[in-house]
Amino acid sequence: MNNRCSVCFRKCIVKEEKTGFCGARAGHDGRMVPLNYGRISSIALDPIEKKPFRHFMPGSVILSVGSYGCNLRCPFCQNSSISWSDEAMNRAAVSRYMSPGELVSLAVDLVPRGNIGVAFTYNEPHVSHIILSEKI
Ligand code: SF4
Repeated sequence: MNNRCSVCFRKCIVKEEKTGFCGARAGHDGRMVPLNYGRISSIALDPIEKKPFRHFMPGSVILSVGSYGCNLRCPFCQNSSISWSDEAMNRAAVSRYMSPGELVSLAVDLVPRGNIGVAFTYNEPHVSHIILSEKI
């Protein structure tokens, strides 16, 4: 059985229990599921200047999380070792599920250290979306 993913421009057609180009979304029972949903494989309190912002609360820090798998191959990527390379894919085994509530609690706990929020970063977060109607 083939499954078609509509999350990004690659529009992968994926066999059952195989992943698409990103390595994060897999065909399962006729629909695509994000294997990396909520699975954190990289986490850090980063300076805001590392994010693609300019002049946004300079000097602050932000709780930054990411997972394995990415649909992009940007030639300037500085995160391939944690997003789409073989090494990154091995992070699936060591990734840890964090519920949205846990993530928010951690972000709040870090406010005294200057944290201003949560950034989904390192890989393309789109590939982790759950789309309930995604059966084509
Ligand atoms: S999100 Fe992943 S599986 Fe879906 S179309 Fe893009 S690369 Fe393919």
